[in-house]
Amino acid sequence: MEKCEKIWFNGKLVDWNDAKVHVLAHALNYGTGVFEGIRVYNTPKGPAIFRLKDHAKRLVDGCKMMGIDLVFDGKEYTYQMVMDAIKEAVRANKNVDYVKPCIFLSGEEVGLNPVGVPASFAITCINMGAYLGKNATAGIKLVTSSWQRPDYLCGPAGAKVNGSYVASCLAKREAIRQGANEAVMLNKEGHVAECTGENIFMYKFGKVFTPSVAEGILQGVTRASIIQIAKDLGYEVCECPVTRFQLTTADEVWLTGTAAEVAPVTEIDGRTVGDGKPGEISAKIHQKFSDIATGKDHKYDDWLDYVE
Ligand code: PMP
Repeated sequence: MEKCEKIWFNGKLVDWNDAKVHVLAHALNYGTGVFEGIRVYNTPKGPAIFRLKDHAKRLVDGCKMMGIDLVFDGKEYTYQMVMDAIKEAVRANKNVDYVKPCIFLSGEEVGLNPVGVPASFAITCINMGAYLGKNATAGIKLVTSSWQRPDYLCGPAGAKVNGSYVASCLAKREAIRQGANEAVMLNKEGHVAECTGENIFMYKFGKVFTPSVAEGILQGVTRASIIQIAKDLGYEVCECPVTRFQLTTADEVWLTGTAAEVAPVTEIDGRTVGDGKPGEISAKIHQKFSDIATGKDHKYDDWLDYVE
């Protein structure tokens, strides 16, 4: 990861090293923040933010769920102003491929009560490159985590709440320790939910399958894009429960996420997926996704927000 120069912090562009919070910030102690991860792609018309409206909507909806008012340094923000701020942060930096907005309870109090604690809004730009490693396109390894995907009674599973990522971090550590790239997290029923920061897809019996929202997944923006692209390419897409057995014996498995983009899976728990090579279907879908994101395919132009 390469740092960018400026961070947008409560309405001002500050130097990277000056974007600081107090050690008693509520979110630091209790996880009371909501964040996003958004990709920026180079296109013939300059840098474009991929599906900014959808990411900003999820961010604002997450704040609503957490009871975090969009008031930073005494100024009230609307959904449109949140998007404008993200664009401003991207514009203020060079070579940005990933943006991480985070709205969180700050303050300097001890105690859980979040009522009345002020919020802060930081937008960090970086150059991330390939999130799952340079060799991810050659196929990644998954292990099944011993940690459960937190369900709807453990928090707002549909929002990207900072505190909800503890299980993801434990699972990611487990995966790395076992020499894998990612961990599959199962839900309370033992069905496949998603990975620590990606949704999961498989291809079997001539159809594309992905766990449904009812399985306790994050409704990924990339997931929605891939479902749309797969359908447009003529594939039937089933959003339904997926078991470990179905996943392991699928012809193809791939992950989708803003950071990971489309990542083919070639091994799960030491078992080879399909013929052990990245699959044809996911490659075809990935190519279409890349063409759209980089402004080469105009069918989904409304998915791109140009920065300039
Ligand atoms: N699941 C989880 C738990 C995630 O953190 C992410 C990353 N935001 C995803 C799935 C993929 O979502 P998106 O495509 O919106 O990045």
